[in-house]
Amino acid sequence: GVPPAAEGTDPAAAGFCYALSFRDISELRRIDRMRSDFVANASHELRTPLASLRGFIETLQGPAKGDPGAHERFLGIMLDQANRMSRLVDDLLSLSRLELKAHIAPSQRVDLVPLAGHVRDSLLPLAQDLGVEIRLHLPSAKVEVMGDRDELVQVIENLVENACKYGQEGKFVDVYLRNAPSQPVELSVVDNGPGIPAEHVPRLTERFYRVSVADSRSKKGTGLGLAIVKHILTRHRARLIITSELGKGTDFTVRF
Ligand code: ADP
Repeated sequence: GVPPAAEGTDPAAAGFCYALSFRDISELRRIDRMRSDFVANASHELRTPLASLRGFIETLQGPAKGDPGAHERFLGIMLDQANRMSRLVDDLLSLSRLELKAHIAPSQRVDLVPLAGHVRDSLLPLAQDLGVEIRLHLPSAKVEVMGDRDELVQVIENLVENACKYGQEGKFVDVYLRNAPSQPVELSVVDNGPGIPAEHVPRLTERFYRVSVADSRSKKGTGLGLAIVKHILTRHRARLIITSELGKGTDFTVRF
């Protein structure tokens, strides 16, 4: 192929660079660094379950070959790892689709009341497993916003799922929907879990950000859930307000 031109020798490119301010350049560098951090993180997250799968396959082919008990156990773990990779790929695809339509405002009229009920039903098995009760506090009339139904389901689902997973076992997760006259519509998901130390709160919506290593080991998740929530809400011109108190719990409020 044709060798690429040496950097800095293309006069057109040089002219283009001079037209940018230092601020623009450092902004471009920052975006570039974020993008390569993201690719590195995503690769790392995929490589971990892949390495584990490879290890188990090798063990099954070798040392554990004639051991049916080990087969059963290892296949179970391998399925978990494969599921983890699927979740990750699904979340990565969601994020990239959301980026593509970031500037298109959603145009459906969506009633949030049935969505909350739908999310509770679909998370019931998980909540029961974790010993958490999801309680809905909904107005009797419709609460409509301009939005994308599936994306709003995903927002509520991610918030309620987090509240169940990270809230303390045996307690409640409360979902409030508020539509007071001349106030913005608000949806809050409140748990009475251990809370989140203040220094982590501003970073929660970063991709792959998780509060503790213990969380990433013991709780199923990709670290992308809140990044997806933030992307969806930006497109809906809505805000996510996180309030947390250690030992008391956390409140994730979406303000439309
Ligand atoms: P995931 O749940 O897949 O790890 P998220 O982006 O949904 O990723 O959440 C990021 C992190 O924020 C979680 O790993 C957890 O440490 C923390 N977190 C989220 N919701 C809560 C909550 N309700 N209470 C305590 N910590 C939470």
